Amino acid sequence: MPAKVENLIGRKFGSLTVIAGPFKSPRNKERTRFEAAWKCQCVCGNYWFASSGHLRQGNVTSCGCVRAKLALTKRKRRLAHAQ
Ligand SMILES: [Zn+2]
Repeated sequence: MPAKVENLIGRKFGSLTVIAGPFKSPRNKERTRFEAAWKCQCVCGNYWFASSGHLRQGNVTSCGCVRAKLALTKRKRRLAHAQ
């Protein structure tokens, strides 16, 4: 594990709190591009794995439940409009 990997445990990124890690990304078996993956817990209770880069860039801020909630709201609005 490279020493430059920052410990993100306890850090919050949007709805996610980092609870464990870093884990080696299973997709990077060749180890040519190491990227640490962190186990995060979302405010909804789901667990989610995200890479350091994605967390720090703000690409990942929830397990996906926020987006799902937004989609649901949109659908409800459309239904209300149709009535
Ligand atoms: Zn969630």
